[in-house]
Amino acid sequence: MRVGVLAAQGAFIEHEKMLRLLGVETVEVRLPEHLEELDGLVIPGGESTTIGQIAREWGLWDPIIAFAHSGRPVWGTCAGMILMAREALGGAPGQPLLGLMDVVVRRNAFGRQVDSFEADLEVDVLGEEPFHAVFIRAPLVERVGEGVEILARLDDGTVVAVRQGNLLATAFHPELTGDERFHRYFMGFQGPVTAA
Ligand code: GLN
Repeated sequence: MRVGVLAAQGAFIEHEKMLRLLGVETVEVRLPEHLEELDGLVIPGGESTTIGQIAREWGLWDPIIAFAHSGRPVWGTCAGMILMAREALGGAPGQPLLGLMDVVVRRNAFGRQVDSFEADLEVDVLGEEPFHAVFIRAPLVERVGEGVEILARLDDGTVVAVRQGNLLATAFHPELTGDERFHRYFMGFQGPVTAA
């Protein structure tokens, strides 16, 4: 299996390391051609405005949208989740989004006091053991469309992980902990799927 990681800015190396630990071949995506032979794509955390701007400059914007529509798995973590959403609140007005998932997110949703925090999440699709999640200036999911499955919430009900067919988005950074279950789960996205 070969998975690409958008290598524009942010935490792409950490995703690569974890994927390689799982025996996955990784490709740093910087050119449209890099997408061609991939079985999946990760859009990492970082700064969503910057990642989006670089992706557009590199001519990757429409190819990434086409990649997602082809039914292959795409996973956005944190800033990547923002880029995958159809709408982002609290961000730079007019920020371009890939608009792959029927979710509305709120950028930097947790305020300065709790800029970064960690939480143990119950995630049914990963089994019984809670998933220790690291949030860094994280977005939250404010609204989800009908075809969107909620995978995880904070104790107060805030939605922080969602799936829509071949598309996965997490507000936190599974690549920064030693727990590879989200990466394994993502790698399991196969078969006929419905893209957004
Ligand atoms: N705050 C960043 C943004 O709005 C996301 C932070 C992250 O990816 N860790 O783009």
